[in-house]
Amino acid sequence: MARIVQKYGGTSVGDVERIKKVAERIKAIRDEGNELVVVVSARAGVTNELIARAKSVCENPSERELDQLLSIGEQETIALTAMALQGVGVAAVSYTGAQAGIVTDRSHTKARIHTIDPKSINRDLKAGKVVIVAGFQGINDEGQTTTLGRGGSDLTAIALAAALKADKCEIYTDVDGVYTADPRVVKTAKKLDEISYDEMLELASSGSKVMQSRSVEFAKKYGVVFEVRSSFNHNPGTIVKEEVAYMERVVVRGVAVDKDQAKVIVSNIVDKPGSAAKVFRCLADANIIVDMIVQNVGRHGVANLTFTVPQTDTHKAVKALEPALATIGGGQVAVHEHIAKLSVVGVGMKTHSGVAATLFQTLADAGINIELISTSEIKISIVIDQDRADEAARLAHAAFGLENL
Ligand code: ASP
Ligand code: MG
Repeated sequence: MARIVQKYGGTSVGDVERIKKVAERIKAIRDEGNELVVVVSARAGVTNELIARAKSVCENPSERELDQLLSIGEQETIALTAMALQGVGVAAVSYTGAQAGIVTDRSHTKARIHTIDPKSINRDLKAGKVVIVAGFQGINDEGQTTTLGRGGSDLTAIALAAALKADKCEIYTDVDGVYTADPRVVKTAKKLDEISYDEMLELASSGSKVMQSRSVEFAKKYGVVFEVRSSFNHNPGTIVKEEVAYMERVVVRGVAVDKDQAKVIVSNIVDKPGSAAKVFRCLADANIIVDMIVQNVGRHGVANLTFTVPQTDTHKAVKALEPALATIGGGQVAVHEHIAKLSVVGVGMKTHSGVAATLFQTLADAGINIELISTSEIKISIVIDQDRADEAARLAHAAFGLENL
């Protein structure tokens, strides 16, 4: 007998037929004698619909009321899933986040989990029930409903797996696992049997989002090993866990493309201490997340600063820069939205040389120009023309032999 925490995402519980399929799946695992705690998301699209509805009655709704509203998406699916289980003769009970003992801090729309009191869940498991828990929500110490940020059902599942000391944690979604590249773009992409937390995080921040990043960070912190797999078939998925020595034998484990970034160039700003600080202070105050930053060598007392921001924040960034440039004196802002960020990720980079050289040569041979470069211990990212991004991903995938992984 094992204690298993499962999470089913929005498409897995997208309609009543899907919910019945999930119930069958749960019943089969339950009939093998396992204890099951199941976290479900809202039906696919529901959370977005609720946000749109909120905006249609009020341009800027309070975050408390947003949480009140958004939390109902998951409350529909927990009850329906529990009923579907009862319908096939499985004892089941559904819990909101609050009922499950999930206590968060006081921030709304992106609350952090403080503690989980598993008393009630443990009692029901002992009584032989399958426990269904609403993802993405909790309660704060003032009794207010909170939500955990978009995609937060993943976090609920990982945190419950840690609190309940589960033997297994399975994240069910509509893809078979984590791939070496987006299979829609790179036909030879391979599903990975396993990946380290850090690689998964770097891939997510580089545009291949399978899970909410916060939940992967949480899993890493608490050592929760989990499997990402599909609820639409019975294929094994990808195990996500702490890096182990043999993982470093693979130099590059994945290629990701992010087409949602824009490049901002601030040219001819005075090359003196404090200029960069002023520029990035203004962006930070406007809550804009800056990714890659490059500054050229100053000449004739002026320098150029180039960086990337999320495309949705381009206008905000240009506006935010105005007062900074006014105080620095001089400087022009130009924006390029038609770019893509391509990243190669792998823990093996820590111990292998030549990854950058191989990547750059591959692109050079294809005549693809590299506009910006940034690196971390396990990642190399470059900015290129968006029109060539898919081709570049295929070339990089082949250059690092990822189809043979
Ligand atoms: N329903 C929430 C969202 O769409 C949480 C989740 O699906 O994980 O963001
Ligand atoms: Mg979701």
